[in-house]
Amino acid sequence: MRSKIVAGNWKMNKTLTEANALASEIMGMVSDEVTGDVKVIFCTPFPYLLTIRNLLGNNARVEIGAQNCSEHEAGAYTGEVSAAMLASMNIPYVIIGHSERRQYFNEGGALLATKVDVALKHGLTPIYCCGEPLEVRESNGHESLVKKQVEESLFHLDEQTIKKVVIAYEPVWAIGTGKTASAQQAQEMHAVIRKHLAGKYGQAVSDSISILYGGSVNAANAKELFACADVDGGLVGGASLKSREFVEIIKSI
Ligand code: PEP
Repeated sequence: MRSKIVAGNWKMNKTLTEANALASEIMGMVSDEVTGDVKVIFCTPFPYLLTIRNLLGNNARVEIGAQNCSEHEAGAYTGEVSAAMLASMNIPYVIIGHSERRQYFNEGGALLATKVDVALKHGLTPIYCCGEPLEVRESNGHESLVKKQVEESLFHLDEQTIKKVVIAYEPVWAIGTGKTASAQQAQEMHAVIRKHLAGKYGQAVSDSISILYGGSVNAANAKELFACADVDGGLVGGASLKSREFVEIIKSI
């Protein structure tokens, strides 16, 4: 059975003090209130990874992830952070290909394939993001674009390796806009992705891969989204910065 996951993408938010407080509050509420089988991941800014990871201790339910890593192994790449560095800090997850990276840092399919490879090589689980911009949705090109994004950065992986990847479908028009995909739209696209994976790797492999929905998930809409057959949880931006709201989202799974 595939894992249920709720990951919070903190993006470039919070001071260290605020980040510690947020993580502590959420952890406290999670241990008091969350009973279901769900994995929670804090994707924090790089500078806070170690501190927050130490705060988690041996908490089995809450884990930590980075929001990006370099495609390079090591070397003269000022300001970059490598997958090997993350692995050496015992950071198990890394977001790859978030739409903000694609849009503001020009990250495309081939580069993201390299990032996926370097993350996997160092034992990290990539949370690979895909999703269409508004104009592509409006011209009805969303299915083919998302299939292409999955193909160009993941389809070089073999059957055993693809199982180590988590996919997040995040329609760009729903990220940070307050405009969520309907449960029907989310389910349709998750089914498209799962079918595409099944075509390449077989149904059993496809059925083992967690596909998260991202795009203005909040406490009010999470239950309906998470009830969809092919939605295995969420990648949550804005609402992951509010402890109560985030915990309500976790409880919706
Ligand atoms: C995200 O950043 O991945 C995201 C889904 O953001 P938000 O929840 O704010 O739309």
